[in-house]
Amino acid sequence: MNNSTKYIFVTGGVTSSLGKGIISASLAKLLQARGYTVTIQKLDPYINVDPGTLNPYEHGECYVTDDGAETDLDLGHYERFLNVSTSQANNVTTGRIYQSVIEKERKGEYLGKTVQVIPHITDEIKNRIKLLGKTGLYQFVITEIGGTVGDIESLPYIEAVRQLKWELEQDCLVLHLTLLPYLATSGELKTKPTQHSVKLLLEYGVQPDVLVCRSEYPVTKDIKKKLALFCNVAQEAVIEALDASTIYEVPLLMEKEKLDEIVLKKLNIKSDNALNLDNWKNFLNKFHNPKDEIRIGIIGKYVELKDSYKSISEAFIHAGSINDCRINIEWIHSEGINEENIKQRLNGLSGILVAPGFGNRGIEGKIAAIKYARENNLPFLGICLGMQCAAIEFARNVLGLKDAHSREMNPATSSPVIDLLENQKNLSHMGGTMRLGAYPCEIEEGTLAYTIYGKKKIFERHRHRYEFNSEYKKNFTEAGMVLSGINPDAGLVEIIELSNHPFFMGVQFHPEYKSTVENPHPLFVHFVKAALGNK
Ligand code: GLN
Repeated sequence: MNNSTKYIFVTGGVTSSLGKGIISASLAKLLQARGYTVTIQKLDPYINVDPGTLNPYEHGECYVTDDGAETDLDLGHYERFLNVSTSQANNVTTGRIYQSVIEKERKGEYLGKTVQVIPHITDEIKNRIKLLGKTGLYQFVITEIGGTVGDIESLPYIEAVRQLKWELEQDCLVLHLTLLPYLATSGELKTKPTQHSVKLLLEYGVQPDVLVCRSEYPVTKDIKKKLALFCNVAQEAVIEALDASTIYEVPLLMEKEKLDEIVLKKLNIKSDNALNLDNWKNFLNKFHNPKDEIRIGIIGKYVELKDSYKSISEAFIHAGSINDCRINIEWIHSEGINEENIKQRLNGLSGILVAPGFGNRGIEGKIAAIKYARENNLPFLGICLGMQCAAIEFARNVLGLKDAHSREMNPATSSPVIDLLENQKNLSHMGGTMRLGAYPCEIEEGTLAYTIYGKKKIFERHRHRYEFNSEYKKNFTEAGMVLSGINPDAGLVEIIELSNHPFFMGVQFHPEYKSTVENPHPLFVHFVKAALGNK
C-alpha cells in the first residue's frame, strides 16, 4: 500500500436510522483486523456547534472524548469497535463549519472576496476531512455523512465529497448504505427507492462505488444484478446487510459479504494481511453462550429512549460477556418511584445503576432507590448525577442534614453538599463550558476502587458542572463514607464508596465512555460480579 491516506465516505439513502455508524465501524473493524490503522469521523449536518446543548430526546446520548469534545453517540460505537480513542476532529457539525468560516471572515482572511457555500464552506468541510489524514496516524479515514442524501442541509457535504473524489482519484471511495423495503403483498424486496437515491447522488456528481443494502430478507443475485445495472456499480460490490441480533455481529456479516476485500480491491490495495478477528469472535461467543443471567435496573429519567444511555447499556454488554453472564436491563423511570413503592419496583434485581442527568425531574425517585440499595445491601453504582444523588441521600439520612441537596436542584438549600465551583458561577455560555474530558484521579489504597482499578492513578472522562462540596469531606468520612478517588490538582471528590456494603459506589466521571469490546471497563466488570454474587 502506498503512503497516501485512503478516504472512504459513507452516505445514506432512502431513510435515516439505517445504521451508517455501525456499517462504518464494522468496515473499520475489518480493515483494522487486517493490520491497517483506521479512524472514523462523523459529519453532522445540523447547525448546533456540537450536540452538548441538545436534549437526549433529540439525538440520544452525548458522547464525550478524552480531549473533552461533546459528540454524537456514533463516536461511542467507533471507540467500542476499534478500541482507539477519538477526538474533537472526529465529529464536525455544520454549526462548527460556519463558525470557523465566519470567524475567518471577521478577521479579514478572505481578502475582500464574497464568502459562499462553494468554495468557502466546502473548503472548510474538506479541510476537516483531510485533517485526520494529515496527522499521519491513519492509513484509512472513514467519513460518515449524517442524514440522508437529498436532505437540504447535507448538500454541501455531498458537494465536498464530489470535489474530493475528483481530487483524490484512486485514494477515495464512496459507500452508499440504502434500504430494500419488503412488500408483503407482492412478497418482494423492492429496489426502486435505492435506484432513486443513487440517481440523486449521481445528479450531485457522486458515483457510489459500493452499495450496502439493508434488508430483512436475503438479497438474491437477480436483485444485485438489477441494482448493479441501474446504479453503475459492479455486481460484486452490491452487498446485503441483514438485520443482526446484536450490532457486534455486523463486522462478521460484512466479512461474509467480503466488504473489506471489495473496498481494498476498489482502492487498488493488494493485501496479504490475513484477517484476525479472534478476540472479537471470542467476545461474541461468550456473549451468546452465557452461563448465568441477572437483572440489573437502570434508573433514569430518559429511559423511554434507550439511546440516551447508549454507552451504559453497551458497557453492560461488554461486562456481561467477560463474566459469562447475560444481563437483562430493567429500565426504571425515576419519576415513577418513591419510598413507598421502591421495594416492590426493585424486586428481583441483582443491582441498580443510577444514571447521569440534569435538572430536578425524577430526582427524589433516584434518592429513594439509593436509600433502599444502601440499607438493603443491594449493589449500587451511581454515575455523575447518580453519584451526586448518593451524596445527597447520605447527607439527608445518615448525617441528618434533612434539607441537603445539590444547588442545581435547590439553590436555596442550607446544606449544599453538591455545589458549583467558582469558575462555573458566572457563565454566559452553556455550550462547551462544563468540566469536560479526561481528568486524573488518585485512588486510595485499600479501597474498593483500588481493588477494581488495581492502580493509584487513573484517567476518566467528565461531563458535569456541579461537584461534591469539599467543605463536607470531613462530615462524610467521619460518618463512614469513603472518599476513595480524588482529583490531585483540585482536591475534588471523584469516587465515594461504603465499606460496610457489598458494592456501593458513586463516581463523578463517566466510566461508560471508556468501555470497549476488547477492554470492558473494570467498574462495570466488578459491579456485574457483585450483582452476580447477590443473585
Ligand atoms: N447535572 C449534574 C451536573 O451538572 C450531573 C451531570 C451528569 O450527570 N452528567 O453536575
